[in-house]
Amino acid sequence: MSSVDLTGRVALVTGGAGGIGAAVVHRLAKLGARVAVLDLDAAGARRVASAVDGIALGGDVADPATMPAAVERVEEELGRLDVVHLNAGIGGGQAGVDDALDVARYRKLVGVNVDHVVYGLCAAVPALRRQGGGKVVITASLAGLAAMPADPLYTLTKHAVVGYARAAGKALADEGIVVSALCPGFVDTLLLGAAREEFDAVGFPLLTPSDIADAVQVVLAQGQPGEAWIIQPGGQASAYRFRG
Ligand code: NAD
Repeated sequence: MSSVDLTGRVALVTGGAGGIGAAVVHRLAKLGARVAVLDLDAAGARRVASAVDGIALGGDVADPATMPAAVERVEEELGRLDVVHLNAGIGGGQAGVDDALDVARYRKLVGVNVDHVVYGLCAAVPALRRQGGGKVVITASLAGLAAMPADPLYTLTKHAVVGYARAAGKALADEGIVVSALCPGFVDTLLLGAAREEFDAVGFPLLTPSDIADAVQVVLAQGQPGEAWIIQPGGQASAYRFRG
């Protein structure tokens, strides 16, 4: 796997208290970065941050004030910002294809999975520019490339952020800011809920949070602007080839 030296660099990871985010926090710290861990679960963020000598930030990423305030605190306390992993996300939790639509739940989903990514990237870019460039990694999903009939609204949000990563990646490429999307299939985290047992029962091979941390490492080392990365069990990552 490609290595990358993050000594002297500073990273911010959203949804870093558990699952994929916590694994990425540990990996970035192992590669030398100081890491800020942001999560709605403030106690969990403190637990993960203290294990890597990082800083913890509580907050709801769907709130437009959270990401600008987080970037400001990271620059104040850690001196700079080089890598941002916009990873927090939630499942759709409803079909979203008829008049049973729960609007409040839908707005929350869009707030966390889509608005957060826009607020986070917009807040981070001025800080990355101050360093002459940087990396933004967005946790999308395979549902950002393929339709997932079990969760159409989740599919909608993940397609949205893959499109945003592709376009923002191209818009920022000349400034040395590399924006990439991760598109993993099912990962063994709490997000899977009850489906976890079903997958277990049939021996379906799940990705692990550590596989995603491997992929982040590869993307940081090799990623080109606006790519979407597919991830195999074992953490092998490859850039998806879009037509056109
Ligand atoms: P997880 O539930 O284990 O972790 C998500 C983290 O985000 C939690 O720590 C949670 O507290 C935090 N979070 C949720 N809402 C938040 C909010 N409003 N503000 C701040 N923090 C918030 O799930 P995970 O599987 O690690 O998910 C991480 C990302 O990976 C998500 O974007 C998810 O959509 C994506 N993803 C997951 C899978 C999978 O199968 N688990 C597959 C593909 C993509």
